[in-house]
Amino acid sequence: MSGTSFNPFEMAQAQFDKVADLIHLDEGVRELLRNPLREFHFSIPVRMEDGTVKVFKGFRVQHNDARGPGKGGIRFHPQETIDTVKALATWMTWKCAVVDIPLGGSKGGVICDPHNLSPREQEQICRGWVRQLAKNVGPINDVPAPDVMTNAQHMLWMLDEFETIHGAKYPGFITGKPVSMGGSLGRTEATGYGVIYTLREALKVKGIKIETTSASVQGFGNVAQYAIQMYQNLGGKVICVSSWDQGDQTAYTYKRESGVNLDELLGITDRFGGIDKNKAKDLGYERLSADAWIEQHVDILMPCALENQVTGETAKKISDQVKFMAEGANGPTTPEADKILESKKIYVIPDFLANAGGVTCSYFEQVQCNMNFYWAKDEVLKRLDEKMTAAYHAVNDLATKQSLYMRDAAYVIAIGRVAQACKDRGWI
Ligand code: NAD
Repeated sequence: MSGTSFNPFEMAQAQFDKVADLIHLDEGVRELLRNPLREFHFSIPVRMEDGTVKVFKGFRVQHNDARGPGKGGIRFHPQETIDTVKALATWMTWKCAVVDIPLGGSKGGVICDPHNLSPREQEQICRGWVRQLAKNVGPINDVPAPDVMTNAQHMLWMLDEFETIHGAKYPGFITGKPVSMGGSLGRTEATGYGVIYTLREALKVKGIKIETTSASVQGFGNVAQYAIQMYQNLGGKVICVSSWDQGDQTAYTYKRESGVNLDELLGITDRFGGIDKNKAKDLGYERLSADAWIEQHVDILMPCALENQVTGETAKKISDQVKFMAEGANGPTTPEADKILESKKIYVIPDFLANAGGVTCSYFEQVQCNMNFYWAKDEVLKRLDEKMTAAYHAVNDLATKQSLYMRDAAYVIAIGRVAQACKDRGWI
């Protein structure tokens, strides 16, 4: 979902190239890993409620599957682009590698706006997406999941279409299913909680008590809501959140200096994570500009909305009080902004480490589906915490030992694992 001048895939490649130079990666390996192995573009015709036929554009990109079947969500978004999907598929490869789960990286998308589609129209898009790809995705080659503006119901329609085409039950085909239909307990919370598990460890390493910290969060969807819940449970104070206003076609920041009340805000938020601005005003929240979240005098920033939010422009507005950034969103920070964060000595927990809780729990969902035996929520969250904590410390230890920026350290580990798998398979 890039703006006109921002190309997320070029950004993903720039991040990769920086580290490829640093580790003197072989030219051929570099060429293989900086591009996707496969990409699919297709059309999905849908008979709309008004009787017309509308054709939606769909994508699936399989970046690398040397370490295991591809894994990655499907976004529905009006500004979806193939370059966004390519970038997200690439980051999925690094994400699965950095948390050391046996999966590769994929991503999918459809250019559409679910705000303006009936449930039946959305179902037809889901089924059409699977019909176009039925031979190229599946439990042992590429496993989809929800992402921005897709949910458990969409996954279930997709699963049903896949099983109808193949004439058998394949619960491991897709993750993020409803819990009653083979989904994993804890999946809804996993990404947001995972962000805070890594932040908790980072604060411990730096000798800071979480109860003494404050944070500002961009976004108020799945990732942001559960990150806020866990951060507040551990004693932190969130002073503002932001969300997209569909009516005004802009984002707003909602602020309360004494701390936002999560339950109160959830009560005035729609299923797309949009906060009702009038009700927020009635509840006494100050309404500020879209970028105000990044200018706050807090200790921690958590971009949890979309890519390309912390830029060369917006990063300059970050207050000197900010010492940490935990990236819940994928690709929120541009390479230009990274330079500013590095110079300000802000400790960044990079996206593909911080938000890897979702895919880790999706992997647990596949494991449970394969065993046909489901774990209690406590067990899922305990295993998730262990994985995230171990991955965080591996990255932090390398960063400390070699004086690397945290994002670069995470890339060194991830690229090393994927390159090794390609070598071991005899691809290179
Ligand atoms: P979501 O659709 O549930 O929520 C997105 C939120 O961002 C909403 O509150 C929306 O109002 C807000 N938003 C949209 N545009 C905005 C803007 N310009 N400014 C401020 N707010 C804006 O999505 P999500 O699942 O929470 O995902 C958020 C990010 O995290 C995405 O980058 C996604 O790829 C990434 N991510 C999600 C998961 C997951 O499990 N859901 C896992 C890993 C990464």
